[in-house]
Amino acid sequence: MPTSIHNPKRRLHKAYSLMHAYYGHQNWWPGDTPFEVCIGAILTQNTNWRNVEKAIANLKSAGVLSPFGLHALPLREIADMIRPAGYFNIKAGRLRAFVDNLVSAYDGNLIRFLDAPTDEARERLLGIKGIGPETADSILLYAGGHRSFVIDAYTKRIFLRHNWCSASDTYDDLQALCSRTLELKDGDDTIEFWQDYHAQLVNIGKDFCKAKAPLCRACPLKGLL
Ligand code: SF4
Repeated sequence: MPTSIHNPKRRLHKAYSLMHAYYGHQNWWPGDTPFEVCIGAILTQNTNWRNVEKAIANLKSAGVLSPFGLHALPLREIADMIRPAGYFNIKAGRLRAFVDNLVSAYDGNLIRFLDAPTDEARERLLGIKGIGPETADSILLYAGGHRSFVIDAYTKRIFLRHNWCSASDTYDDLQALCSRTLELKDGDDTIEFWQDYHAQLVNIGKDFCKAKAPLCRACPLKGLL
C-alpha cells in the first residue's frame, strides 16, 4: 500500500530504512587507502566501477598509486595505465592536476590537504581542473571524513520521480535538502550514515530506477511513490 509521507525528513529516513532493509549495510567506497578513494572518485566519472578497478589495479601493479608515484610519471604513461576507465587522456590530465596540487602545495600529504573546514577543503578540490562538485564531495565524504553529501544523477532521478525535488533544482539545492534532513543527532555518526545513504541510492539507481524504464514494482522504494 503506497505511503504518502509529507515531511521531507521522515520520508528520506523512511527511504533509507527501506533501502537498508533490502540491501543491508554497504561498505563503500572501495579503496585500500584514502588516496586510492580519491583516484577512484576521479576515474569513475562516466564509467562503471569495474573499469575503475582495472585501471587502479594497473596503477597498483606498476607501483605508482601514490601522490609522488603519479607525479613522477609522464602523462602518456598514466593514460595508458588507466585506459580501462575510458576517457583516459582527459582523466590522466585530471589525475595529474590533482597529484600536482597535492605534491606542490601539501608535500604529497593528503591528510593535510583535506584537513580544513569542509567549505575550505571543498574549495581546494573545486579549484583543481576537472574536479566538479560530485567528485569533490565523494572525496570529502569517503576519503576525508567530511559532512559533504554526494549528489549524483541517480539521486536526482529518484528524487524527481518521487516528487521530492523539482526538475529545476540544482546540485546545491539537492545537497542542501539532504544535508538538512539527514543530519543525525549529536553522538550518531552522520558521516557514516551519509556514506551508506549515497551507496544505497546508487544501488537503487542501478538496479531499479533505470533511465528509460524504471522497475517500480520490484523496487524497495515503491511504497513511497
Ligand atoms: S524504480 Fe520506481 S519506486 Fe524505485 S526509486 Fe525509481 S521511481 Fe521509485
